[in-house]
Amino acid sequence: MNTLTRRDFMKVSGIGGAALTGFFGLKPVQARAAEMRLRISYAKQSTTICCYCGCGCGLLVSARDGRVVNTEGDPDHPVNEGSLCSKGSALYQVANNDRRLTHVMYRRPGGSRWERKSWNWAINRIAQLVKKTRDEDLNSPAKQGKPVTRCDSIAAIGGAALDNEECYLYSKFMRALGIAFIEHQARI
Ligand code: SF4
Repeated sequence: MNTLTRRDFMKVSGIGGAALTGFFGLKPVQARAAEMRLRISYAKQSTTICCYCGCGCGLLVSARDGRVVNTEGDPDHPVNEGSLCSKGSALYQVANNDRRLTHVMYRRPGGSRWERKSWNWAINRIAQLVKKTRDEDLNSPAKQGKPVTRCDSIAAIGGAALDNEECYLYSKFMRALGIAFIEHQARI
């Protein structure tokens, strides 16, 4: 059986599984595994949660030079124990995608074109609209003269990518605003 050292790997850096098969006489499945190990050599590894559905599968993300080079199921995660569905297996495409928006795009009410805005502009705009909506709700005729802090004009929805602590903070924040309609993507 052929054994590959790290030095061997580095020699063939950038060469695909077919070449590994040719150089070292590996079976295709061995070549694919070797190619994968080569790809994540010297990469920084971190954990994340799949953003696609409410199952909340865990993934290992390998990044090198600021670019995601591999994603795979996290074997230590209690939900999926290393497995992923086909959608989760393609999660790296969320990061490595020329069509990914990395800035704020805004279309005015009734507008026909998108404008590029800053993140600071967006957070201020959201805060202003939340305050305006909440003030109007609490001062509506039905609630005037009553000590009501419940806001029925805003609903909140969480996503599968939120972890326990983020869900806790999110729900606390929403309740502090008086929002009762709090839902989660996984229940819909
Ligand atoms: S890997 Fe598949 S099943 Fe798991 S959270 Fe993502 S989309 Fe859902």
